[in-house]
Amino acid sequence: MAQQIADRRDVDFVLYEQLDLEEMIKNKHYSDINKKTVDMIITEARNFAIKEILPVNEEGDKVGLKFENNQVTVPECFHRPYKLLKEGEWIAMTEDPEIGGQGLPHMVAQVAAEYIVGADFSFGAFGFATHGAAKMIEIFGTEKQKELYMGRMYSGDWGGTMVLTEAEAGSDVGALTTMAVKNDDGTYSISGNKIFITNAEHNLTENIVHPVLARIEGAPTGSKGISLFIVPKLWVNDDGSLGEPNDVVCTGIEEKIGLHASPTCQLAFGGKGQCRGVLLGEENKGMRVMFHMMNEARLGVGALGLFNASCAYLYAVNYAKERIQGRDLMDMFNKEAPSVSLIRHPDVRRMLLWMKSHLDGMRSFVYYVAQLFDKEILAETEEEKAQYTDLIEILTPVIKSYCTDRGFEATVQAMQIYGGYGYTADYPIEQLMRDSKINSIYEGTNGTQAMDLLGRKLGMKKGMVFMTLLGEIQKVIAKAKEIKGLEGLAKKLEEAIGRFGEVAMHLGKTAMSPDVKSAFALASPFLEVTGDIVMAWMLLWRAVVAAPKLDKLIGDADGEERIEKIEKNKNAAFYEGQVRTAEYFITSILPVTLGKMNAVEATNSAVVEMPEASFGG
Ligand SMILES: Cc1cc2nc3c(=O)[nH]c(=O)nc-3n(C[C@H](O)[C@H](O)[C@H](O)COP(=O)(O)OP(=O)(O)OC[C@H]3O[C@@H](n4cnc5c(N)ncnc54)[C@H](O)[C@@H]3O)c2cc1C
Repeated sequence: MAQQIADRRDVDFVLYEQLDLEEMIKNKHYSDINKKTVDMIITEARNFAIKEILPVNEEGDKVGLKFENNQVTVPECFHRPYKLLKEGEWIAMTEDPEIGGQGLPHMVAQVAAEYIVGADFSFGAFGFATHGAAKMIEIFGTEKQKELYMGRMYSGDWGGTMVLTEAEAGSDVGALTTMAVKNDDGTYSISGNKIFITNAEHNLTENIVHPVLARIEGAPTGSKGISLFIVPKLWVNDDGSLGEPNDVVCTGIEEKIGLHASPTCQLAFGGKGQCRGVLLGEENKGMRVMFHMMNEARLGVGALGLFNASCAYLYAVNYAKERIQGRDLMDMFNKEAPSVSLIRHPDVRRMLLWMKSHLDGMRSFVYYVAQLFDKEILAETEEEKAQYTDLIEILTPVIKSYCTDRGFEATVQAMQIYGGYGYTADYPIEQLMRDSKINSIYEGTNGTQAMDLLGRKLGMKKGMVFMTLLGEIQKVIAKAKEIKGLEGLAKKLEEAIGRFGEVAMHLGKTAMSPDVKSAFALASPFLEVTGDIVMAWMLLWRAVVAAPKLDKLIGDADGEERIEKIEKNKNAAFYEGQVRTAEYFITSILPVTLGKMNAVEATNSAVVEMPEASFGG
């Protein structure tokens, strides 16, 4: 079976049945859009991804990049899909049509991204980073900056990057040493070296726009003294024409475990003293501006975890159905019994259900957050808007960390299901695994995200945002209690939520006590617990939608008759899958989560008090 990237039936279920996109687009803000348009756009994105991008994924990995004379050449096969990416206007899907966008809801753009970026992560990053950089210019740029840069980035004619990291300034961005000196003409001379910059040099676009973090001479130390500059690869004249190369030199690219077709560049700014940039936003307020792009990128990278899991699951489930190996457990002692497909073995089914439950939960979670962005736009009062903004803020580190960890683990499970074949380069799983590991490291390591959740987000508005989140989960629990067959699951989640609230309170208090280090040693386990709770919430919500529909399709049938009816009806099989997946997660994973909560509550001093010498090494 050909790879589908994302299961369209499931995509439609989340969009229309769980999150009711059709109702949302009745709003006059979306007067040009209806279900038919949305379906057409998703079909187009899917076709584009399957026919044009997926085929270059493996080739890009094998061919890799060429670095010669400070220039990077991408695999030749990238040029055609990139041209189509531009022609299809896929980069600025959510932006206003007046500035070159398509004015689509974020939920729809999220689905298109799932297909386009999910087909090839190296390729997808070209549009992804460009969008984030252009958006910053749209929000914080002057009219002139928008006129010169934004449109040509949204169209994909020019590429965009994000330039933070230096050799001694990774997670601690505030330690950066790149300098900016103001010139008489209002521009700034930039000098310094950056590393690990994605797509900072390549031959897909005629120009590349670098948003660069640097410190203006005399500015305070730390992140309070950082400013942001637009530094184009080729200087852009006032009339929009391209000028001289701007003394930004790619001095090398990294050899990496994965993403072989994605250039990770070392950049030297102003080696000849001739690198110019223009200020984006205000002096010393660069981090505030850059955070806009970083938050978008964090959600985007979190979504990559979903895309990893989706591809891994679809490969694995199809392989498990096709690969014949071993007898059915019930025929273990019958030597005449035929061999069966892997999916008949309980341990393989366990791995598949682990993958499916996290995949389904993550898809609902990622689309839910995309919908919060749409709701922010449609909100009728400032108060309502703030509620959505707050939920996005508290959930951002959870999406980034939880989904990227689970996405990678899904590739590990997929490899296990493939057995020895999965470990070879003959099958796609090893590339998927290699390509996905980076997601837990860049855009703020997952450890940094956990610290953000505990240190900043948990206590937002005196804990009210966290309480709002719990309130949203309670709404689904209340509905589930009314549905035959889901009462028990609802009760289990309700108990877990109560415990989660207690543990959050305990850890939050510890984080403000002299024992702060012990609390932060548990920040990652706490984030993991939060992610598990979100999964259980999303899966129960899916079951709430699916169970009544399943009832309608199969009535009171039970036993063999029930199974027969389900097997004959695709929709019944799909809805049964929703209920069973929720049942699996809430009965098999949530108890483990409760154990993790116990571990978080039992803050122990070993991690922080063990002497360095006792670590050995
Ligand atoms: C393929 C690739 C692409 C990249 N693309 C870009 C890009 O486009 N633009 C860009 O600017 N950067 C980019 N990066 C850089 C990336 O964002 C950094 O690697 C990342 O921020 C981590 O920094 P570091 O590697 O210096 O690790 P470190 O900061 O040294 O961190 C190492 C470990 O220590 C932990 N740690 C560090 N500080 C603390 C702390 N205070 N408390 C607790 N734990 C801590 C981290 O969580 C991590 O586990 C890219 C990197 C790679 C590999």
